[in-house]
Amino acid sequence: MDSPISPDDIESIRAGIDEVDAGILELLAQRRTFSLRVARLKGTQDAPSRDLLREEDLIAERIAGGLDHGLDTGLINSLWREIINDSVRVQREFLGRSEVDRDSLTVAIQGIEGSYSSLASRQFFDARGITDLSFVRSDTFADAFEAVIDGRADVGVVPIENTTAGAISEVYDLLLERELHVIGDTRYRVRHCLLGLPGASVAALRRIYAHPQAAAQCSDFLSGLEDCEVIVFGDTALSSKKIAELGDSTVGAIASEDAGRLYGLDVLLTGVANRDQNFTRFVVLSTEAAHIPEGVPAKTSIVMAVGNHPGALMDALAVFRDTGTNLVKLESRPIPDNPTDELFYLDFEGAVEDPPVAAMLETLTTHVHFLKVLGSYPSRDLRSRAPTAAPNRNPTRSAPVEEPAKPSKPVGYKLGSRGHKKRNTIVEVGEARIGEDRLVMIAGPCAVESWDQVMAAARAVKDYGGSILRGGCFKPRTSPYSFQGLGFEGLEMLFEAGKAFGLPVVTEVISPEDVSAVAAKADVLQIGARNMQNFSLLSAVGRSHRPVMLKRGMSSSIDEWLQAAEYILAEGNQQVFLCERGIRTFETSTRNTLDLSAVPVLMQRTHLPVIVDPSHAAGERLLVAPLAHAAAAVGAHGIMVEIHPDPDNALSDGPQSLELDQFGRLMDSLGLAR
Ligand code: PEP
Ligand code: MN
Repeated sequence: MDSPISPDDIESIRAGIDEVDAGILELLAQRRTFSLRVARLKGTQDAPSRDLLREEDLIAERIAGGLDHGLDTGLINSLWREIINDSVRVQREFLGRSEVDRDSLTVAIQGIEGSYSSLASRQFFDARGITDLSFVRSDTFADAFEAVIDGRADVGVVPIENTTAGAISEVYDLLLERELHVIGDTRYRVRHCLLGLPGASVAALRRIYAHPQAAAQCSDFLSGLEDCEVIVFGDTALSSKKIAELGDSTVGAIASEDAGRLYGLDVLLTGVANRDQNFTRFVVLSTEAAHIPEGVPAKTSIVMAVGNHPGALMDALAVFRDTGTNLVKLESRPIPDNPTDELFYLDFEGAVEDPPVAAMLETLTTHVHFLKVLGSYPSRDLRSRAPTAAPNRNPTRSAPVEEPAKPSKPVGYKLGSRGHKKRNTIVEVGEARIGEDRLVMIAGPCAVESWDQVMAAARAVKDYGGSILRGGCFKPRTSPYSFQGLGFEGLEMLFEAGKAFGLPVVTEVISPEDVSAVAAKADVLQIGARNMQNFSLLSAVGRSHRPVMLKRGMSSSIDEWLQAAEYILAEGNQQVFLCERGIRTFETSTRNTLDLSAVPVLMQRTHLPVIVDPSHAAGERLLVAPLAHAAAAVGAHGIMVEIHPDPDNALSDGPQSLELDQFGRLMDSLGLAR
């Protein structure tokens, strides 16, 4: 700081100021490392309570020291308060992190050492006192996720968006599909350089290796080069490694300065990108959610899906406004396998551990079809922990968000209860809206048996005014010797038949591993009576974004049934409807006893729609129509019946299946015929 400053030269004075400021920044960073060392010494027990007396003493001392230098009391006071706040935050964040007792970490990244992912990892963990990183190299983002899931890496670090190139959609999709928590994020400044072998010159270069993204971000520079070919290559670090191996001084690479250092290359030119300000945001992933100590500013990321009708997104966003929650990001993506619907990724201030945030999310479930929390994590971009969600007493406009009322007595379900949501849930399936006044008819064969059979049934459903085609592909049969269904081959037939007649389809899924493959083709996932308490299956469909039809277990009480529904809702999927299909009683005249009183009882207890399946209750064709009428009379939102073009030769449940023209007469008598 003793550089000669000529009083007349404003430029050199400014240079002097820059130099002093650089020194201040360096000292602030150094001060932070001391704070981290203190945190380490304090150990892993409780987050430090602030020692306010010590802080005041320290500030008084600094003010006195400042006066010696002729500095204002106000300046020193506000400056040191900020500095102390920062070190308390750094210490609390350090003590809150799960890997607190370790100095080293394995990090899964896409790419190799020297890639921007590895550099961003170092930036993130260095600032948290963890400097010993080893990388688990993955070829794809999906592999990097897998490495964390199967324990080969402690954490994963993946890019999620770039200021020039935009969102990295593959990573968004993986965050939705895989069960990892976001535990941190960091913005890394990407600085592309032109690298070459030591002694190489720009003019002599004939080939340049570059990652496609990097080439796009440096297109102005690259297109200005003469006699030089751009070779699109893996990633920036691989490009560097490649030219180091080639050992040819006419070959260059676009990568970071650090990658160059790692592979023994020279920086031939810096600042070769079209834009100088180029940032990539990375997220840090772990199998465990982060614990965020009180007082540490935090951000939460969620994914949600809303209904496909006007105002649906506004209704959901109103929850943020009306609870005073600060939304900092909103990104939309089509739902994989369901391109007509959109998913919304949101970041907001606050942590799920904060009671007001937890309450806000609970309210949000009443306005969305699907909600998944990706994680809460300390955020250094934010000033203070959102004093969160002090509810805005004066919402600017429109209907206030309903306050969830408390259930009157403790029950094993909450999200499904009327107390939680007073309005009826409407399950949207194609054109059908289950839960509104108009009765929705679901019909089709018990099991998909052949192309001809399912096409004939689909035609009847369409012609007679049904809304949804059903058909079992995976049949949970009581006897292992009964027909088990055509599996995925049947699903393909059902899917095609639905498509041919413009009908959404519902089919049963019987194992958690099949959920995503079945959800790729079916519009509604059915959970059968025999699986109503298969909790891992319920959780798996709860993570899906397809509506779920939950049939009543044949020996289950209404409350057990609602608790089963709660498993689905608690995982995030709010599009659930219930199907009464008869229960076991002492009566043997019918296959089961249709419990129609369940319909009005459910309507008192839950906001979820209720439909009735008279076919499985009756077990006999002739009883189906009268029971269907009774279901309509008692207020069911829909009816599901089995139909078959040739019931006498059906492979399953023939005796209770309606013939196609019989189905037509039922539709007529219910007033549903087209
Ligand atoms: C079905 O709907 O085909 C079925 C198997 O029903 P449940 O699970 O009610 O027996
Ligand atoms: Mn059946």
